[in-house]
This record gives sequence, structure tokens and C-alpha cells, in this order.
Amino acid sequence: MHRSYSVEEAALKLGVHKNSIRGWIKSGLPTVDNSRPTLILGAELKAWLDKRRKAAKRPCSPGTFYCFKCRTPKAPALGMVEYKPMNDTSGNLIAFCTECGTMMHRRARKEAIEANMPSLAIKITEAKPSIIERTPPPLNCDKMMDT
Ligand SMILES: [Zn+2]
Repeated sequence: MHRSYSVEEAALKLGVHKNSIRGWIKSGLPTVDNSRPTLILGAELKAWLDKRRKAAKRPCSPGTFYCFKCRTPKAPALGMVEYKPMNDTSGNLIAFCTECGTMMHRRARKEAIEANMPSLAIKITEAKPSIIERTPPPLNCDKMMDT
């Protein structure tokens, strides 16, 4: 905790490959300034691991979906999201990847949609298809076509 580790020591201590540690450094793990070889503070390492653990539980930050084709969280195309309820409290959010157009899914609790999808246009689909949603044919359509 209060000492610093070289990349090799940290890898040994955590039982991971030292290339993993190098990858973490590239993606933001803080190191001791200007140290050669690179040194990582034990406290920083612990904080980083905690952050990663939390990130793994919630892979997508608010407003994004995991795109299986891009293999990374992506924003919905046109900022549009559809919510399909499965029951009274939760359902599926559906959107299209802004990069590749692949359909993306994400489970959501109904009350958490706003928090999960800030500043996006959410279209709530009713669980039961309603006949009212269908566009009625215009009245007098036959007559209009005659004229
Ligand atoms: Zn994609």
C-alpha cells in the first residue's frame, strides 16, 4: 500500500502478465513521475483495481450500449433509444450502434432509464400492442381517390 512497485513486481504480486500492467498504465494507471524503471504506488494500484472491478460490474457508462461488433460501448445512433418493458419494473433498452448500425441491447429498470440514458430520446414501447397505435385509414379515402 505505502510502497511503490516496478511493473515486474506489480505483475508478480497480482499474478498477471507484466504486459497487462503496461496496458493499464497506457489506459490511465498513474505512475511515479519520471521514474526509471517505471514505478507504481501501491495505493494507486489498489485504487485502479477497485475502479476496474466496479467498471466490470457496469460495463457501459450512462448513455452507451455495448456493441458486440465494435466490442466496445457505443452511443446510440441519432441519440434514439427504444424501451421494451418485460414487466412492470424492468425491460430492455434497444438502440443501434452509431458506428456500425448493429442492434444493441441493455437491460434496465424502468425507474433507472432516465439515469442510464441521459439526454437521449427514449421511446417507450407498450408491452401490449394496442390497436389505437395503428394509424387509422383516412376517412372518405375512396371518394378522394375518385376525384
Ligand atoms: Zn458497433
